[in-house]
Amino acid sequence: MLRLHEYAYHRPATLDEAVAFLREHQDAMPIAGGTDLMPNMKHRLFTPRHLVALKGVRELHGVWLTDADGAPVEEGSAAAAQVVIGACTTLTQLSRDPLVRRTLPSLAEAAGRVAGPQIRNQGTIGGNLCLDTRCTYYNQSLFWRQALGFCLKKDGDVCHVTRTGKKCVAAHSADTVPALITLDASVDLVSADGTRTVGVNEFFVADGEWNTIRRRDELVARVRIPIPDPAVRTAYVKVRQRNSIDFPLLSIAAAAELAPDETVRRISLVVSALGSRPRVVTGLEKIAAGNRLGDVVEAVAQQAFKQCHPLENIIVDPDWRRAMVPVYVRRALREMVPARALAG
Ligand SMILES: Cc1cc2nc3c(=O)[nH]c(=O)nc-3n(C[C@H](O)[C@H](O)[C@H](O)COP(=O)(O)OP(=O)(O)OC[C@H]3O[C@@H](n4cnc5c(N)ncnc54)[C@H](O)[C@@H]3O)c2cc1C
Repeated sequence: MLRLHEYAYHRPATLDEAVAFLREHQDAMPIAGGTDLMPNMKHRLFTPRHLVALKGVRELHGVWLTDADGAPVEEGSAAAAQVVIGACTTLTQLSRDPLVRRTLPSLAEAAGRVAGPQIRNQGTIGGNLCLDTRCTYYNQSLFWRQALGFCLKKDGDVCHVTRTGKKCVAAHSADTVPALITLDASVDLVSADGTRTVGVNEFFVADGEWNTIRRRDELVARVRIPIPDPAVRTAYVKVRQRNSIDFPLLSIAAAAELAPDETVRRISLVVSALGSRPRVVTGLEKIAAGNRLGDVVEAVAQQAFKQCHPLENIIVDPDWRRAMVPVYVRRALREMVPARALAG
C-alpha cells in the first residue's frame, strides 16, 4: 500500500488568506480536487509539509460573463465580452455549463474528456492548468524509481528518455489547455503582491521539470476567455488507450473563423501530450487564409506532422503517436467544415 507522508491541512476561507499562507510557507502547496496531487504525493514526487485547500475559497468558484473591462454583466447583455471561469470550477461543471457549451464548445468537450466521471466531479480547471508533466520514468512509486535510479525531474541528474540530455522532456498532458490556447484564453495569477494576467500560451514553457511560469506562491484564480465571433468553429479530439479514463497520448484543438463563403479568415491549431508544452502549429495562415477550410485539411494536417516530434516519454510508441497527428488533425478539421461544404 502506498501511504501519504505527514502534513498539515489548511482551509483558508478567502483568496487573501490562501496567498498569504503560500507566501509565508515555502514548503506549502495548493490543493484543489487533489486528483493529481494526491497520487503524486503517494509516489513521493511531492512531499509538502502544508497543503492549502482551495475548494473552500468562494472567489474561486463559478462561471460568469464580463464586459471588455472585466465588470460582471448579465447573460444576454450586448456588452458581454468574456467568459470568466473560477479556478475551482470542476471539470463536470465546465463540461455541462450551458454558457460554456454554447459559446466555447471545444472547451466543454475537452473538459468532458478528462479521465472518467469520478475524477471530473472532483478535478478542477485550475488543477488541470497546473497539472504536473508526465513521463514513464517519473509517474512511478518511490520503490520503482529507486530501483532504476532517479531522473532529473525528481532527485536524479539524468534523463532516462534522452539518456544524454540535461533537459526534462516529460509530457504536458492537460486536456483543457490546447482548447484554451486556440480560444485566446488568459489566466489571472494571484499572489500576495497582487494579480497579473497572462495568456494561456505564454503560461507554459518547454521545461518538463516545472512547465509553467507560475511562481510557487501564486495561484491561478480565474481563466478569462473572449467570447468568440459566431463565425468561429472549434473542435477538440484526443487519442488515449481507454476512452473511459486515460490521459491523452495525443490531443488536438483547433479553431477557425470562416467568412460567409466558408473561406478561412483565421485559424489556430494546437497539438499536445507530446512534449513539455503544448505546440502551436505555425505557418497555417499562409496555407489556409482565403481558402475554403474543406480544401486545406490535408495541407494543415501535413504542416502539423512536420512540426511534431514526440519522444519516448510515455508508454506508447512515439512513431505511432507521430503518425496519428495528421489523422486526428483531419478529424478535428472535418468536424469544423460546414456540412454544406462537405456535401459539395
Ligand atoms: C486515473 C487518472 C486519469 C486522469 N486522466 C486525465 C486526463 O485524461 N486528462 C487530464 O487533463 N488530466 C487527467 N488526470 C489528472 C487530473 O485528474 C486532472 O488534470 C484534474 O483537472 C486536476 O485537477 P485537480 O483539481 O484535481 O488538481 P490537484 O490534484 O488538486 O492539483 C494539481 C496541481 O495543480 C496545483 N493547483 C491546483 N489548483 C491550483 C490553483 N488554482 N492555482 C495554482 N496551483 C493549483 C496543485 O498544487 C498541484 O500541483 C487524471 C488523473 C487520474 C488519477
